[in-house]
Amino acid sequence: MKPKCAISACLLGNRCRYDGTSNYDPKLIGKLKEYELIPFCPEDFCFGTPRPTMDLVKNNNEIKAISNLTGANLTPPIKEYANAFFDTHKDIKLFIGKDRSPSCGVRSAKLYNKDKELINSNSSGLMAKEAIKRGIKAFDAEEFLEKF
Ligand code: SF4
Repeated sequence: MKPKCAISACLLGNRCRYDGTSNYDPKLIGKLKEYELIPFCPEDFCFGTPRPTMDLVKNNNEIKAISNLTGANLTPPIKEYANAFFDTHKDIKLFIGKDRSPSCGVRSAKLYNKDKELINSNSSGLMAKEAIKRGIKAFDAEEFLEKF
C-alpha cells in the first residue's frame, strides 16, 4: 500500500481556485508517484467556486482569514474542514500545499495586520497549520520541487 500524501486539489488540475482556474503541476505530480494522493480544497468546499479572495490577518495575536470582499471572518469553516479532513485521513504522511495560499501555503502565505500592512510572507495557511500541528511533514509545492 502506498503512503498517503494530502495535496491541494488545484495542483492536481481541479479548477477550484477563486477564479475557477487550476494550478495544474504535472512535474510535481510526477515526483509524487510513490504516494497515494488525497486531494483537498477547503475554500471550494466552504465557499464554492468562483469566490472572493481572502487574506490572513493578525489582530490581537490571533490570525484569521478575512474576506477581501466583505471583511467577514472566514476562519471557522476552514478550520472545521481541516480538522475533519485530518481526522478522516489519520495516516497522511506528507502534505503538499499550494504556495502563497492563505489556506494551503506552508511557509509562503502573506500575513497582514488589521490595517492591511504586510507583516511577513512566510506564514502558514489555516489548512497547512493544522497539518504542521499534527506533526505531518509539510512542504509548499515549489519548495518540494526544489528539494526533491
Ligand atoms: S490553494 Fe488550496 S484553497 Fe486554494 S484552490 Fe488550491 S486547494 Fe483550494
